[in-house]
Amino acid sequence: MKQQLLSSPVFQMAVEQFERVADFLELDEEIRERTKWPKRIISFSMPVRLDNGKIEVFTGHRVQHHLSRGPVKGGLRFHPHVDVGEVGALAMWMNWKCALMELPFGGGKGGITCNPREMSQGELERLTRRFASEIAPFIGPEIDVMAPDIGTNEQTMAWILDVYSTQKGHLVPSVITGKPVALQGSKGRTEATGHGVAFLASRALSKIGANPQEANAVIQGFGNVGFYAAKTLHSYGVRISGVSDITGAIWSDEGLDPDEVQKHVKNTGGVKGFKGSQPVDPELLLIQECDILIPAALERVIHKDNAPLLKCKILAEGANGPTTPEADLIIEKRNDIFLIPDILCNAGGVTVSYFEWVQNLQRFSWSRHEVLSKLETRLQKAFDKVLNFAKYRKCSHRIAALSLGIKEVADVKQQRGLFP
Ligand code: NAD
Repeated sequence: MKQQLLSSPVFQMAVEQFERVADFLELDEEIRERTKWPKRIISFSMPVRLDNGKIEVFTGHRVQHHLSRGPVKGGLRFHPHVDVGEVGALAMWMNWKCALMELPFGGGKGGITCNPREMSQGELERLTRRFASEIAPFIGPEIDVMAPDIGTNEQTMAWILDVYSTQKGHLVPSVITGKPVALQGSKGRTEATGHGVAFLASRALSKIGANPQEANAVIQGFGNVGFYAAKTLHSYGVRISGVSDITGAIWSDEGLDPDEVQKHVKNTGGVKGFKGSQPVDPELLLIQECDILIPAALERVIHKDNAPLLKCKILAEGANGPTTPEADLIIEKRNDIFLIPDILCNAGGVTVSYFEWVQNLQRFSWSRHEVLSKLETRLQKAFDKVLNFAKYRKCSHRIAALSLGIKEVADVKQQRGLFP
């Protein structure tokens, strides 16, 4: 298992981060090993009939990175590059994130290697239902609660809920989060991650003494996280200068209206060609001058070659793992960028997922306003905690956030002791 995970560059990156923080915290060798490796890795082969009548065998994984603090929580990703190491790294980051946010969950992540952009709705539904029936014995409201991630959405969650509930013989809404509101999803969940990213970016603006009305932002990725981050920032008066997605990158000196860009994406499949914008090289988009840069797509897009060229004042990590450890060291040394590390910055999603789970268990629902204001309170608390830790321990925001998360998990493991 260890070799398989370590063959992935994304998992190596998560381990490198972990080791750096474990050294910083002076974690002893035994607790370090217990904390580092995931509890369970489950892999599936899933034969699915395609629309052309042929059968394709897809591969999927779910990694459960510790159940010591509660059920594992984390998204399900559909993407051509998914492998078990990437899923393992994402599960590990979820673990530190849940602990940092003081949520009673461990970390989980799932993924299926497929290209949802090239699949019909029917094929996606058959693949999702097959996955749900394979994973049903290993999930549950007290074991593992999935949510959407890249390439999946509330419809995907609804299919999983349907399969699981059909097997149990009754509706079990608390087995999944990020589902439609009509199926007991939470109001505010869809926009939670992006809203949280924008909320924390606005807190960072105020820390560096900048005014949102005079600030601009650049966003890589215009899916769930990127779009809602743009929408909330726009509502604060921040100018959205550039955005990108898989189809290309666009720029406007006057600023882009996120809702209009979203309409264009719905009509054409991507941001490319949006009226009134200029095309930009997607790589160069990341190094444009801006107040807030939000990577909200994939991992490892900020690396040793572009980190010295960044011209942002705030780096708000909407995506998971967008900055490599080498780039991290460069950013630390530069000391001119206010970093909001991923496990804090994008924690809005899992926090509202937690609210959704709580509402489901209580058979009760909260208004959107209640959800978003509870979310902001929790994010503000975690933001302050990270900044205080960084100040007193004289370390970067990344090390501070990871230290708080990892220490919490290691302490719980220590307190529970070893079985048998
Ligand atoms: P999504 O599938 O809704 O959107 C992904 C976006 O990235 C799309 O616009 C896609 O076109 C774009 N993209 C893909 N490859 C790209 C590339 N090479 N260059 C530029 N854009 C590219 O996914 P999402 O849910 O918005 O997730 C985005 C990131 O945020 C992921 O790292 C995910 O793990 C993280 N995240 C998501 C949530 C959530 O609640 N959805 C929560 C926490 C973290």
